Amino acid sequence: MTTFVDLSDIAVIDNHCHSIEAVQSSDLVAWRRRYTESPDPTLGALHVSHTAFYSRLMRRTAAFFGIASGEEKALLEHREQLGATELVRALFRDARIGGIIVDIAYPAPDAALDPAVVTEVTGAEYGALMRLEIEFQHLIVLHHEFDALVMAVGEMVTDLRSKGFVGFKSIAAYRTGLAIERWDDHEARAAFDAARAEVQTTGAVRLGYKPLLDTLLHIAFEAAAAQALPVQFHVGYGDPDVDLRTSSPLELRALFDEPAYRSMPIVLLHGCWPYFREGAYLASVYANAYLDVSYTIPFLSRAEMISMTRAALGTAPFSKVMYSSDGVAIPEMHWMGAIEGRHAIGTVLGEMVDAGELDEAQAREAGRLILNANAAKLYGLSEDAQ
Ligand SMILES: [Zn+2]
Repeated sequence: MTTFVDLSDIAVIDNHCHSIEAVQSSDLVAWRRRYTESPDPTLGALHVSHTAFYSRLMRRTAAFFGIASGEEKALLEHREQLGATELVRALFRDARIGGIIVDIAYPAPDAALDPAVVTEVTGAEYGALMRLEIEFQHLIVLHHEFDALVMAVGEMVTDLRSKGFVGFKSIAAYRTGLAIERWDDHEARAAFDAARAEVQTTGAVRLGYKPLLDTLLHIAFEAAAAQALPVQFHVGYGDPDVDLRTSSPLELRALFDEPAYRSMPIVLLHGCWPYFREGAYLASVYANAYLDVSYTIPFLSRAEMISMTRAALGTAPFSKVMYSSDGVAIPEMHWMGAIEGRHAIGTVLGEMVDAGELDEAQAREAGRLILNANAAKLYGLSEDAQ
């Protein structure tokens, strides 16, 4: 007996994704480079097409658009002709995407399809996240004095909902690692001076000054706790800047143990892959830890998505796991993530039914929580009416 729990009627809330690029180019080199996190162009040029992920994406999208499988060029030209707005309209509807929580800092807002257009053509609810490190960098460029910077950060993170955001996203993992510490005032000031020296030389700053970044993050976390706002952390696999050694979710222990942050939900992104067991463990022991299971980044085969899903659902409470695509720039990722994510979750829940752990009604309810209701509650969106 193999039970599959069909969750296709449940609208997903994609609890972590990115903007769609306004211009959808048919350039094959750029297209392939999207599907690797390597800064080395060789990966995109020679190796991406030899991955299960890329093969699946191309097969699924070719079938959707009615183009013969393997006709890469024809597919890219077809989608360029359709354009971003039509692609979003067709793909979001097909995948039944009811809401998206968007890290609006990447791709840059001036290259992105207008969020008002996205909501208008898809009917999906839209929640924006403030990407902290990028905002900190802007403020460091603007402020010559440390005390003025601290005050500006404090103002920025206060009353966030009235500024149009539903939570924060931190990319500390791409900068100085997830072991976020408390620093003495003189250490934070010395790091600020070093950051300002970079601004004087280059006109900008990459916030790789750990005592400064950690200090500013704590200001944001105190504000998040006061407003009961979720903070998403990039964990594990991702950006070329990530040092995987310092981006395990276990590095966040000091934050989980901080009593003042208990009212701040911490969302561990990307299933924490390859640290998905560690992520599932944290979600099972810390009340404010939530595990995001993400289905287009990392770029995994279906079997590996199932492994991640088994670890997540096998350990963490269903009330602590949330679906995402981590789709970025092209709407096919948001679309395929929703379809594949539902399928992987339905497969793993079916295994639990077969093992006599859940009945079918419990499995359906678990699916509804993971795909929709947990995120609706956490970010303040409306639940699927089912
Ligand atoms: Zn992301």
